Amino acid sequence: MVALIRQVVTWLERWHGEARTRSPLPGPVTLPPVAPAPWGLDANHLMEDLDLLVRGSYNPWHPGAMAHLDPPPNPASVAGELVCAWLNNNMLAEELSPLLSQLERRLLGWIAQRLGLGEDGGGVMASGGTLCTITALVTARHQRGLDGQHACLYASADCHSSLAKALRVMGLPAAVLRLVPTDASGRLDPHLLDEALAQETAPILAVVATAGTTIRGAVDPIGLIADICHRRGLWLHVDGAIGAVCGLSQRHRGRVAHMGRADSLTMNPQKWLGIAKASAMVLLRQPQALADTFAAPLAYMEPARVAHGGDCGLQGTRPAEVLKLWLGLRQLGQQGIDGLLDGALHRAQVLRQGLAPLPLILPSGDLHIVCFRPSAAGSGEAWSRRTRQRLLDQGLMLSRPLYHGERYLKAVLGNPFTRREQIATLVDTISASLSR
Ligand SMILES: *Cc1c(COP(=O)(O)O)cnc(C)c1O
Repeated sequence: MVALIRQVVTWLERWHGEARTRSPLPGPVTLPPVAPAPWGLDANHLMEDLDLLVRGSYNPWHPGAMAHLDPPPNPASVAGELVCAWLNNNMLAEELSPLLSQLERRLLGWIAQRLGLGEDGGGVMASGGTLCTITALVTARHQRGLDGQHACLYASADCHSSLAKALRVMGLPAAVLRLVPTDASGRLDPHLLDEALAQETAPILAVVATAGTTIRGAVDPIGLIADICHRRGLWLHVDGAIGAVCGLSQRHRGRVAHMGRADSLTMNPQKWLGIAKASAMVLLRQPQALADTFAAPLAYMEPARVAHGGDCGLQGTRPAEVLKLWLGLRQLGQQGIDGLLDGALHRAQVLRQGLAPLPLILPSGDLHIVCFRPSAAGSGEAWSRRTRQRLLDQGLMLSRPLYHGERYLKAVLGNPFTRREQIATLVDTISASLSR
């Protein structure tokens, strides 16, 4: 085991050294053989297979990798992932992860308190933001006594598609997702929300505020939405997959102010903080609501001190993803967290300033995401396709989201290796693409 890991580390060292010279998005590569060979492979052959795999993979380590919310992973979290696999503990039940279950409860309790969810706040990790959203909404429905009812959900028109997916899982028709228009800043309009709620005839499952929309990084006015929910006695869920991590920073918590007034909240440290995937959690003011909702007898396990991990969400067997989060945050420290947020926000500002003089529609945003398209309506499709390729030719990878019927280019500035040099090349290329 240890000899193999040592060989993998040596192999990784070579690839890691070359990562910045390889494009963020490789061209087509032949897949290694997928079926097991008749006889097992030795380490050298395994490395050959891995070589092929790396050659064809998205490369987050390149400074021009800025298409999505998938930054280079935090180093300690990568080491934590290895240790997690080696320990092979199971968060399903306490006896299979005695200290790690405790670590998850404690760390999530600390984070919940830090984000303002109160002394008793806490939660559970799940493999990605979508699972966390489903966990939160199923809990909200159960807590509000709406199981089996045709309840509806309110969110901004710019909310994430995982809400629609959650409703499908919950057996609710797509039409129960009531989309409230956003204002010019891309934030849910609280007056329109209040008006719509006043007219509603169906039971209301929850109101969702998004702390960082996926395409432009807008943060809904959580305080005003919380006032409305409080006045009307409604469950407030905050989708903080992108922005909630700002609540961990004294300097940046104002960007997601009042987030702690939520009943439930999701946060993805795998995005902005770069904790190795998957790293996502659902947090609640009253975390025992999770076990109230999900517990089913685990007849084959010793009783838990509080509740088994497997009682607190959708997953049964679950890796101890808390290990890499804990180790990653320990490595970053408060200063490192602030630094990651500062750096990304600064790069986004530099890019915005560079793009501002160009004939572009440049929607505002509150976080580290910048999206834009040519001013002429309908020109985005061909332009974005052409320009994305031109950028890729220079090692810069952007994405092409569809937003309000128009195709945009989007840069996420969460990659700490992105320098002024890449941003300058990006601005020059965009400028040239508009003049031809
Ligand atoms: C990414 C994202 C999600 C879903 O998270 P996954 O980890 O991709 O499942 C939910 N909400 C928002 C706002 C997101 O950006």
